[in-house]
Amino acid sequence: MDYIKDLQAILKARKGVYNLNCPMVICLVLGLICSVFLPGLANFLGIAAGIVFYRRVLGIARLPSPRCGKSFGTKSNFVLGVGPEYCMHCGLGLYS
Ligand SMILES: [Zn+2]
Repeated sequence: MDYIKDLQAILKARKGVYNLNCPMVICLVLGLICSVFLPGLANFLGIAAGIVFYRRVLGIARLPSPRCGKSFGTKSNFVLGVGPEYCMHCGLGLYS
């Protein structure tokens, strides 16, 4: 199939969605330090880490479908996950 390489890239991105990246680690470490010295600031750093995580999930859900070019995992601007195992627009399966 022509889409194998692109589908594998989507699968690889989805498998890494829960890995910590540098901005999240910085926010969490600073939040941990601030929880001792500046407890009020720790909440904002936790929220910042959550925003960084949500932006990653949104980016992965919006990866373009190799067949139709539209976002693979979502039709909406508000996502709760990376999407199903098929394209939300054309139905192309991740494992096809
Ligand atoms: Zn599609």
